[in-house]
Amino acid sequence: MIDGDANPYGLISMLKDKNLTLLYILLTHEHFDHCQGLDEIRRITGVKLGCTTSCSRLMGCSKTNLTAYYPGVEPFAMEPADFVMEGARMILPLPGGDAELLYAPGHSPGGMCIRMGRAWFTGDTLLTEGTVPCHLPGGNRTLLSQTHRMLRTHMRPDDMIYPGHGRPAMFAECERWMAPEERKPPLENTRIS
Ligand SMILES: [Zn+2]
Repeated sequence: MIDGDANPYGLISMLKDKNLTLLYILLTHEHFDHCQGLDEIRRITGVKLGCTTSCSRLMGCSKTNLTAYYPGVEPFAMEPADFVMEGARMILPLPGGDAELLYAPGHSPGGMCIRMGRAWFTGDTLLTEGTVPCHLPGGNRTLLSQTHRMLRTHMRPDDMIYPGHGRPAMFAECERWMAPEERKPPLENTRIS
């Protein structure tokens, strides 16, 4: 499972109804709208949560998980992760094939993208219907540009992007939402006359 939402009990009853067991929770970043409810799922099911080292630390603070700033959201502090990705890239073996975890700061310091086959789970690091916000505490446009540059070396035009908000789309369709300086340069030797 990747990220969570405010109601963990719907997921828990679905797992029970379908007789499914969660292998891991992978968290794309520390913002509350992605990690809310995950401690309760961990407590009830015993599933292990993995994320970046920064995310593990920052989700434990109401200022950096942003709950301190959102009226109507009860401030909370998450427990640290059960495991963290080491370095900028980590392979997590799964029964259906490996998951590749890539460190992806910019939208927030603790960002991570996950690739499974030709499917990408990008959290808020790459959206399919708009530019990625960097104005939240810890956001950094320069780092996001570097992250987008790194992702472009891995992503193929027909890869599917599953963002943290909005609909899935092929990379070819949503590449235009990357930081402008990371877009493809015009083809050399192409003249328009
Ligand atoms: Zn976010």
